Amino acid sequence: MAEKIVVVGGGTMGAGIALVAAKAGFDVEIVEPDQGARDRAAAAYERDAQRSGDSSSSRRIVWKYALERSDAVLAIEAVPERFHLKREVFAQLDEALPAPALLATNTSSFSVAELADEVADPRRVVGMHFFNPPQRMQLVEVVATERTGDAELESALLFVERLGKRGIIAADTPGFIVNRVARPYYLQSLRALELGVASAPELDALARGVGFRMGPFELMDLIGLDVNLATSDSVFERTLAGRFEPVELQRRMVAQGRLGRKTGAGFYEYRDGNAERLELTVPPSAGIDEEEVVGLIGYGGRADELAEMLAQSYRVVARVETDDRLAELPADATILIDASDGAADRSEVLAQLDASYGAECVIIADAYASDLTACAARLRHSERLAGYGVLGLLSSQATIELVDLETASDDTLELAQDIFAGIGRASILVEDVPGLFLGRTVGSIVNEAMIAVAEDVASAEDVDEAMMLGANYPIGPVAWGREIGGARLRRILKRLADADGEGYAPHRSLWVLDMEEAAEAPSEEVTQ
Ligand code: NAD
Repeated sequence: MAEKIVVVGGGTMGAGIALVAAKAGFDVEIVEPDQGARDRAAAAYERDAQRSGDSSSSRRIVWKYALERSDAVLAIEAVPERFHLKREVFAQLDEALPAPALLATNTSSFSVAELADEVADPRRVVGMHFFNPPQRMQLVEVVATERTGDAELESALLFVERLGKRGIIAADTPGFIVNRVARPYYLQSLRALELGVASAPELDALARGVGFRMGPFELMDLIGLDVNLATSDSVFERTLAGRFEPVELQRRMVAQGRLGRKTGAGFYEYRDGNAERLELTVPPSAGIDEEEVVGLIGYGGRADELAEMLAQSYRVVARVETDDRLAELPADATILIDASDGAADRSEVLAQLDASYGAECVIIADAYASDLTACAARLRHSERLAGYGVLGLLSSQATIELVDLETASDDTLELAQDIFAGIGRASILVEDVPGLFLGRTVGSIVNEAMIAVAEDVASAEDVDEAMMLGANYPIGPVAWGREIGGARLRRILKRLADADGEGYAPHRSLWVLDMEEAAEAPSEEVTQ
């Protein structure tokens, strides 16, 4: 006889979890008092049977109106996210499923330990946080409280494995791994939009350009602004950490009923369920430029890539790696690109270049490490300075943020756009705020991941895997942090914290991200 499990609540998540378990060979009892929810589940099972050709699995699922005494080995609670309701369900489960049955909650935001208080033997209580839709999403965060038993945790992981899913252990902390580490994607994007860095479609395009499957605004429209805000509210209320504080703009939109796709309007307007998004195209390269003389300053992976790519669109590209060799740059340079080490303030060097080159030479500088508005104020020819943002590797960034410096001339901005178009990169003009958009959002995601690791929520490897499986991230945030560099991230976040508050400050563990790369830096590095 197959092992039996109980699912309490047959809504979006419960019905999906029940089907996944039935397909894995479990007999499932599902408790759902509402006829509407039952009808929706039946229709969903019918669609699944037609798609998969498997109509027998859903027959292993028995529907009940109320919880009954059961010899099931496990119960998963997936009733609505209301604390008192969940507590009541746990008290009932304690009676209905005697030990050693495992009792699991699919809660997204409550403390699993507090629910375990309702159960005589809290060793058998775990969190099993499935992602929506459970049939498709591979990740299950298996949440261990301080009182969860080792053998019980092992059984929970084994069950998840038998479903064909990846169980990752997370500590019982607000947002567990995914909902916590993903918070800055929403919150920092909202702050960028409030600051007027660029429009929502432009910011979404920048996010897609570094590999996010959806930009933050189209994603919030899909999730529902209200649902997304409730998660932010809950993480903020439980941590009281300023960096999790929900953004007023989102609260206003929720109050106005602009909830996203489901109401026909959010950050986008939806007609027939679809909205127009910004798709950027780059015109094909016009071949090698023979006229411009390009000088590149900088070392490390980012500068290497830039040098290689520029050499494919300009005949003359001269590079110096360190600042003590600036004199070796061609005297007749018409374009100077400063990539530096990506972590140090560049105002001195930019002033030096400005003093050495005639007004016709355009200077394009990394905008994450330096305050370019302040730098421009020191230049003789501030109209020739433009800023660009390549965060990690150029090869993993399709769209570049170009800083719309007030002092820059149209010709300068146009040339900067042409340079990146020449290497196959679209660009978007953004306002000069610390971290621009990508440094602010991705930098804060990496920072949050490092804080979570330091607080023992999960290991670095598990955080990375969870974000890729549970949130479709193109790369795990810790690996992403290594690609960007710890010192560079520290610099970006320091500038962000100076402007927006200490809550955004770089975590002390960021240096770890540079450990493997440290040996590659040239010893005669000149900074500041
Ligand atoms: P839902 O509203 O779609 O489903 C909940 C179901 O529980 C409803 O059908 C309701 O009739 C039923 N119910 C209410 N009281 C009950 C009771 N006493 N006994 C049995 N059934 C009862 O909600 P959902 O989206 O499936 O969310 C369920 C849980 O999963 C929540 O804790 C939520 O935070 C969590 N979760 C949701 C998502 C998501 O994207 N929807 C993702 C991960 C986790």
